[in-house]
Amino acid sequence: MQPNGWRALDQLGVASKLRKTANAIESGRFVAITDGKQKPIPLGGEVRCLRRMDLINVLAEDLPSNTIRFGCRVVSVELDPISSCPLLHLDDGGTIKAKIVIGCKGVHSVVASIVGLKKTGLYSIYVTRRFTRYENGHGRENEFVFMSKDGLHLGWLPVDDHLVYWFVIRKWTSPESRVTLAKDPMLLKSLIVKAMNDFPIEAIQMVSDSDLSTVQYTDIRYRPLWEILRRSFWKGAIVVAGDAMHAMAPFLTQGGAASLEDAVVLARCLAEKIKLSGDDDRGLRETSLSFEKSAVEEAFKQYSKERRARVFWLTMETFFIGSILGSSSGIIKLVIVLFMIIHFSDKIGHTRYDCGRL
Ligand SMILES: Cc1cc2nc3c(=O)[nH]c(=O)nc-3n(C[C@H](O)[C@H](O)[C@H](O)COP(=O)(O)OP(=O)(O)OC[C@H]3O[C@@H](n4cnc5c(N)ncnc54)[C@H](O)[C@@H]3O)c2cc1C
Repeated sequence: MQPNGWRALDQLGVASKLRKTANAIESGRFVAITDGKQKPIPLGGEVRCLRRMDLINVLAEDLPSNTIRFGCRVVSVELDPISSCPLLHLDDGGTIKAKIVIGCKGVHSVVASIVGLKKTGLYSIYVTRRFTRYENGHGRENEFVFMSKDGLHLGWLPVDDHLVYWFVIRKWTSPESRVTLAKDPMLLKSLIVKAMNDFPIEAIQMVSDSDLSTVQYTDIRYRPLWEILRRSFWKGAIVVAGDAMHAMAPFLTQGGAASLEDAVVLARCLAEKIKLSGDDDRGLRETSLSFEKSAVEEAFKQYSKERRARVFWLTMETFFIGSILGSSSGIIKLVIVLFMIIHFSDKIGHTRYDCGRL
């Protein structure tokens, strides 16, 4: 979680609880395995490696009871032809008639297609990521380390004094190899360890010692730039947020933080346009929302405008980093690097963004 994400978490009122779950990362370092050269990676402020579960639990704890319904899978969404209200069809056969739908179910969003977004693209790169636990403490610095050799990129950073998060980025060689790797974590892990033969021994040990059952293959998807630039993010009382809106690959490690920014901006836009009535102490479920349809649409319009500009630049920067990592052509890499020197000379500019007050 980068500084802009912490700003959003501060606004959501949960940052102080989350700070207790993860060490502050103090520095970053890149190591080229081939020649051993090292250079610092600028961090730009507060960076901590949050466990997804800690983030979700802390956000959920602060909601009124019964706000979340578990085990509830939405299979399709449509606008009621008579009332124009969104109807959510569930996999148990049930239907929810909603006042507002915020579609944030990730890269495979059914809501995204309703508002007019097309399918996400697929990089020829995959990521394997996991935790390694050291019962007696890992003894490492609170440092983000990134190492590369021959198209294998390994990064790690500690979560706390016992847990280290690591990830490996590699290209898949064919659609068949992609399917095989996704199904076979043992093969995935052994191929990575084999390819790491020149890496420092503690790095190889860290990958080898991770629990096999938790080694995970992840395809990397992205929303193309022209979709971010041209398509609508809302329709009627339906809007998208998070990866459903701007899946952007993890090369800038900004997808989650940008999703939290979405939450703050969307809440602010809605609060400015619609009124909450009822007794808040009884919880949101008993609080009635009164609003004009046009007020919601105005809020979504404002939200889309604010977020389009922000996620356009994030998506572009991420896309170029992905192209450098994924391309085998030296000329293409050189052209992209030159373009990035011009447009993204401030390497931590994306972390300075402030999504504003709730
Ligand atoms: C390898 C990797 C590393 C990353 N590293 C970083 C990083 O360091 N920093 C960062 O900021 N971001 C990072 N990201 C990006 C980040 O994980 C995403 O941007 C973020 O999780 C998006 O959040 P989301 O809520 O939009 O979607 P998701 O996190 O995908 O959540 C979607 C939710 O919707 C639920 N859902 C799915 N389908 C349905 C359905 N049909 N009905 C009901 N519910 C449903 C799911 O259960 C899930 O809870 C990384 C991503 C990857 C792949």
